[in-house]
Amino acid sequence: MPADKPRYKRILLKLSGEAGVGGDKFGIDPETLGAVADEIAQVTRAGIQVAVVVGGGNIFRGAALAEAGMERASADYMGMLATVMNALALQAALEKLGVFTRVQSAIPMDAVCEPYIRRRALRHLEKGRVVIFAAGVGAPFFTTDSGAALRAAEMGAEALFKGTSVDGVYTADPKADATATRYETLSYTDVLARNLKVMDASAVSLMRDNQIPIVVFNIRERGNLLKVLKGEGVFTTIA
Ligand code: UDP
Repeated sequence: MPADKPRYKRILLKLSGEAGVGGDKFGIDPETLGAVADEIAQVTRAGIQVAVVVGGGNIFRGAALAEAGMERASADYMGMLATVMNALALQAALEKLGVFTRVQSAIPMDAVCEPYIRRRALRHLEKGRVVIFAAGVGAPFFTTDSGAALRAAEMGAEALFKGTSVDGVYTADPKADATATRYETLSYTDVLARNLKVMDASAVSLMRDNQIPIVVFNIRERGNLLKVLKGEGVFTTIA
């Protein structure tokens, strides 16, 4: 396939609360949100089907609330509700750009969005709508990384794109260690055995079992999602 053609027809994009909506701040940062929506809009205009799983860490994270003394399951439900808020924010930002979207929540919330229905989500994707999946897997003690892996498998996505604020997986934290080098490729087993902090182990093993590659790239760089989809630019592939 020529280098300038997108490599995949259907992807699942995982955005953490910070990378997708919050931009390192608590709550919602309109600038981050607008930029991320633009990345997604470019890709859908290129004819690629995009499903998104959005996190909630910019608002609530179950583990942090539990550390502060709250019972873990309730804290996790608050985290899941936070992802619904982010999903609605992303939906609004995409619609501003003329992109058709649907939000589906793993926790049914009929007045707010659709419930998660696999076949309906697939139909939306076929029609070119961006489907934003909220509330992770819908159960406490999980994270939205696991939600992303599960939905990627259910949607038959050809790859799971993990948008972060760094351009791949490094030997050490590149923001703290100047000698850190980036991996071009890694195997799922490398990531698990070396305990590399890319995604949760459960998400990585689900991707391994279903042979879905994980592409780690920088979502903060404008135009990068489409570029990486064409195999250009800088990223790490786990396969
Ligand atoms: N969460 C959960 N089950 C899920 C997905 C998320 O309990 O299936 C909760 C969990 O408390 C988590 C929070 O929602 O900390 C926000 O999600 P996550 O930490 O994955 O967000 P991100 O780090 O991607 O912003």
